[in-house]
Amino acid sequence: KSAGRNTARFFDPVMQAAAVAHDELVKDLSRGFAAQEFVLQYQIQVDENGETTGAEALVRWKHPQRGLVPPIEFIPLAEETGLILPLGQWVLETACAQLREWAKDPDTHGWSMAVNVSALQFAQASFVEQISSAIQKTGINPRRLKLELTESMLVSDIADIITKMNLLKKQGVRFSLDDFGTGYSSLSNLKQLPLDQLKIDQSFVRDILSDPSDAIIARTIIVLGHSLGLKVIAEGVETAGQRDFLSVIGCVAFQGNYFGLPVFAHELNTKPSEPQDAV
Ligand code: C2E
Ligand code: MG
Ligand code: MG
Ligand code: MG
Repeated sequence: KSAGRNTARFFDPVMQAAAVAHDELVKDLSRGFAAQEFVLQYQIQVDENGETTGAEALVRWKHPQRGLVPPIEFIPLAEETGLILPLGQWVLETACAQLREWAKDPDTHGWSMAVNVSALQFAQASFVEQISSAIQKTGINPRRLKLELTESMLVSDIADIITKMNLLKKQGVRFSLDDFGTGYSSLSNLKQLPLDQLKIDQSFVRDILSDPSDAIIARTIIVLGHSLGLKVIAEGVETAGQRDFLSVIGCVAFQGNYFGLPVFAHELNTKPSEPQDAV
């Protein structure tokens, strides 16, 4: 901080160490992708009766030294380097292959699969083709595939986004707007986009029982979504109290650790819940 104006920041030892660490991580990330170290966990989504209706695919990096690395630690970097394109394609194909497995089992036949899509992926000219080919390759029912977009991607060419969404919707693919309420999307965007679902961000769910503003925002999103003919799901539900409150304000779809943590496919409970009187 006491360095003169002419001192190049590059020679700041802290900055330099950070730059080196960044470069190492970039290298490690592409090594990890080549070594097939990425894995998917799935977090269930449930209806008002607690029945599972599907799951969201969440990517993790199974690092040989660092263990299971959460996406927040590598998705931004993957977006910066462009690795998100092959990684996102891998996520999509792996999630579709899993969806195909669920479709074969009577217990999970009707489950849907939500897949997060980053802005860079969506912006590719070949995006629609990539989705179509993943659908064809795996033989899934496209109506069971739900692509999660974020509001941050709506700042780019909205006309192009709508064109691509409509092409995919013609095939049956559904769209959910993730982390709703935290981004920049205007209500006019919301009106134009051929969405199927809004996902109430977990930041509004966390304190919903104690913070009246959060409760009002959640309620408003539910009313807004339903008024526009959209489904609404709440994410980050951690307690029965939050679930009950959300039910009272009209929410009928939920996701969160209260219902199930993200787990590997073989760890999912795929049996429908027992009717109350049989317990
Ligand atoms: P998201 O899509 O909003 O996913 C929800 C995140 O909330 C997940 O974190 C999930 O584990 C976490 N979560 C779910 N229920 C609860 C709860 O009850 N309490 C709390 N505290 N957290 C809960 P995760 O898996 O760390 O993913 C973080 C973000 O990384 C995702 O947020 C998504 O934006 C991104 N991401 C994950 N997988 C992919 C992917 O395949 N592609 C892309 N582009 N982004 C991904
Ligand atoms: Mg998501
Ligand atoms: Mg979210
Ligand atoms: Mg989030």
